[in-house]
Amino acid sequence: MPSLTDSHTFSLPSSCSFLISVTDTNPISLAALRSTHFYLLGEGSNSIFVDDFEGVVVQNKIKGLESDDLNDVIMLRVGAGENWHDLITTCLKNHWYGMENLALIPGSVGAAPIQNIGAYGLEVSTFIESVEFIELETGAKHKIKSNECRFGYRDSIFKNDLAGKVLITHVNFVLPKSNYMETSYGELANLNAPTPEKIFNTVIGIRRKKLPDPRQWGNAGSFFKNPIIDKSLLTQIQHEYPDIPFFCISKTLVKVPAAWLIDKLGFKGKVLGGVQCHPHQPLVLVNIGSATGKDVLEFARLIMSRVKEKFNIELEPEVRLIGRNGLIEL
Ligand SMILES: Cc1cc2nc3c(=O)[nH]c(=O)nc-3n(C[C@H](O)[C@H](O)[C@H](O)COP(=O)(O)OP(=O)(O)OC[C@H]3O[C@@H](n4cnc5c(N)ncnc54)[C@H](O)[C@@H]3O)c2cc1C
Repeated sequence: MPSLTDSHTFSLPSSCSFLISVTDTNPISLAALRSTHFYLLGEGSNSIFVDDFEGVVVQNKIKGLESDDLNDVIMLRVGAGENWHDLITTCLKNHWYGMENLALIPGSVGAAPIQNIGAYGLEVSTFIESVEFIELETGAKHKIKSNECRFGYRDSIFKNDLAGKVLITHVNFVLPKSNYMETSYGELANLNAPTPEKIFNTVIGIRRKKLPDPRQWGNAGSFFKNPIIDKSLLTQIQHEYPDIPFFCISKTLVKVPAAWLIDKLGFKGKVLGGVQCHPHQPLVLVNIGSATGKDVLEFARLIMSRVKEKFNIELEPEVRLIGRNGLIEL
């Protein structure tokens, strides 16, 4: 059984029945998938194998980058198996600006639209023109425009109606030549005369300081999404915690930081089995070296139940948890 320990950033001891790579869009290489129990994998930075998976893991290794310089914009067509941060670095070197806020997010280009990756005030959907994929059932190739991808907060059609049904092969980006810069968020707002290069370097500096490096401490980034709650619930929580941070989403909804909720319950730095709630970043669960899938599930469920009990908020995982037979719910 091939090991999956090095194929996902949480690095749990785990394996699968077969591990194969897809390097092109040849339907023959995908034909086997239609009748098999499988899991599509990019670089495994949003996937945690909590058990030995009894199926085929298909790693996307479709490479390539084509650029087209049009009047006002640069168009990019990028293979889904390219590394995300390498793409951002290449863009910067070529003066194709806009996506610097998303520097150093681990993972593949193909996974970026799936959860609409975002950081420091920017989501990747801002720059996605279209997404190309193969429908696994029929082998048919499709291309859908950004407005058909139903992008939302850490969400898209690929996480819902098309989940497990398609293999993303390429992502097409449109980057404006007008030096788009998003500097409203946190430390970026304090930049003196911001440039894309300054944003890129600042984001990398913050991330290196704040987030555990998965090569040192296995993790999958934010374990839970920031919950979106009704304003009336916020008002109730404010009676006890007037300092609760929140961000208005609409007239009736607000987003609250899951990290704050977890911190208030005293989980920061706590250890359960081989898993630690990170001492500086409580939204990140870390493999302190000896974690098992059972530890991860137990700790995540404990956090969720305590948050529900105390704040009446249902936390939703941002990570995918894969068990013996595929995706599992918490
Ligand atoms: C330290 C750290 C920091 C992080 N910071 C952020 C952050 O700031 N913002 C953020 O949004 N995310 C963040 N993440 C999460 C993660 O980096 C992103 O979700 C990333 O896009 C996952 O890419 P991947 O290739 O590793 O995906 P994987 O974990 O391999 O796959 C993720 C999902 O996509 C599916 N999938 C992958 N490739 C394809 C494909 N080609 N076709 C169809 N389905 C596919 C998989 O089946 C799975 O369901 C962080 C993770 C870590 C470890």
